[in-house]
Amino acid sequence: MQYTPGSDNGSGASNSNGSSFVHRREVRASNDTGMLPIVTTSRNYAGSLELDKLIASLKELFAQDRQTASQQDSTRCGICYMHYSVSELCYRDEEGFYVCKGCERALSKTNIPMLRRQQKH
Ligand SMILES: [Zn+2]
Repeated sequence: MQYTPGSDNGSGASNSNGSSFVHRREVRASNDTGMLPIVTTSRNYAGSLELDKLIASLKELFAQDRQTASQQDSTRCGICYMHYSVSELCYRDEEGFYVCKGCERALSKTNIPMLRRQQKH
């Protein structure tokens, strides 16, 4: 296939010269760059974004914990040490500590002897 300089003018006579000129310039510009945008760092960036999200959610969690801890009827879960209101916790009489719903589910029937029994409210 051979490029003939005059052929464009013949076929695109009704088209404005401006648009075809711009188009050709764009093609040339991308050819000059020669490469696609570099994407190799995107994975690391996503990883740090995940970490940022994790830290943000932890901060939120601790802020919430402090808020709960400042309330009158709050006490700690004996397993995860997060604060909950007493009504949200379940006191395990055998072992002598409060357990939150999440930890209770994780423990199920597992017996965990505690060195220090929590005071029952
Ligand atoms: Zn817990």
